[in-house]
Amino acid sequence: MKNTNELLASDARFLWHPYSAMAGQATAFPVASAQGVRLKLTTGEELIDGMSSWWCAIHGYNHPLLNAAIESQLQEMAHVMFGGLTHVPAVNLAEQLVKLTPQPLENVFFSDSGSVAVEVAMKMAIQYWHARGQSRQRFLSLRNGYHGDTFGAMSVCDPVTGMHQLFSGILPSQLFAPAPQPGFGEPCRKEHIQEFRDLLADHAHELAAVILEPLVQGAGGMRFYSAGYLQQVRGLCDEYDVLLIADEIATGFGRTGKLFACEWADISPDILCLGKALTGGYLTLAATLTTSAISQAISNNPPGVFMHGPTFMANPLACAVANASIELLLESPWQQRIEDIAQGLEQGLAPCRELPGVAGVRVLGAIGVVELEQAVELSAIQPAFVRAGVWVRPFGKLVYLMPAFIMKEEELAQLCAAVVRVVAEHT
Ligand code: PMP
Repeated sequence: MKNTNELLASDARFLWHPYSAMAGQATAFPVASAQGVRLKLTTGEELIDGMSSWWCAIHGYNHPLLNAAIESQLQEMAHVMFGGLTHVPAVNLAEQLVKLTPQPLENVFFSDSGSVAVEVAMKMAIQYWHARGQSRQRFLSLRNGYHGDTFGAMSVCDPVTGMHQLFSGILPSQLFAPAPQPGFGEPCRKEHIQEFRDLLADHAHELAAVILEPLVQGAGGMRFYSAGYLQQVRGLCDEYDVLLIADEIATGFGRTGKLFACEWADISPDILCLGKALTGGYLTLAATLTTSAISQAISNNPPGVFMHGPTFMANPLACAVANASIELLLESPWQQRIEDIAQGLEQGLAPCRELPGVAGVRVLGAIGVVELEQAVELSAIQPAFVRAGVWVRPFGKLVYLMPAFIMKEEELAQLCAAVVRVVAEHT
């Protein structure tokens, strides 16, 4: 077994990490195990985790019921192909997702990751119009949006942060409306939606769909926007006969205080993408849901099939743990927990408002954001968080928290206090 220094040396030599350079120097922290809301490093420190592994681990780590669901499924089968075969975990999960998501969504396509779920959604929209005898292959997205790292998904990400310039030879050219201006809880007035409306009016004939993250723009800026804006988008998509794809990969399963963020606006998309917390953070799995009108149009017109089918589609272990995670969530007092976390974040992060260099603090559900005036120096601030006993991974100007729903009041207070301290030292 490698000691910590050997581990880090090999990591630096052989491994890429997300959005990072192959620097040849150790920049990662080695985790030995994770339990509840804590990560334990090989060097012995225990960190309170403020990230839930990028929105996923809503029940915390190493949960006995989730472990048991995987162990029990493992005794039956780890995986079988989904072409021509089916199984209980997939069927149960599809039924449950259809039951929980907004009404007209009835059919489920499983894939391996959020980005692929977005690719699938985009292909569904294009195939739907093809089935209706129309060639509509462009998408209207929002600035500051983020939908994943594969080419289709990347093409609907914010052009600047998605580096469209760099990939301009290969990325399909999409349309972008300004990021929604009215914040969460604010009304959406005519002028707020005007540019979106104009783009839709001018391009409806070539648009397969509008794609957006409902209410919370995540990796593109951690912005919370008005439910009224989303309602108006839904209305305009209907008016101009363009499909609406809601990417709830980050917001799904309670994070914003509703099971799905679309519920804040009381709207239903034509296509919905889910991922991340779907398996409680245990295994990679995503789902794209659509209406029977869309799936029937695709299936009843040439070529008569939907052209996608990943090798690990509906992986039984992933579906089994997703079923257990959803059951655990629904049986828990999750709404109360999210409200308590929102209050804890609000109180705990409030002192940041007084700090120089802080542009703003905002909270929605179990998401807390401290926006700085300048981008952080990750190589300096990250070790400071670890020394403070917490795991927080900022990006750009954003220091943000999305704790597991099981985080206790004192742990959340400790986490927030560490953020206040570290931000004060680094701005
Ligand atoms: N859509 C949204 C809204 C996301 O937040 C993410 C992941 N950050 C993705 C899509 C892509 O998911 P994945 O990383 O699983 O491919």
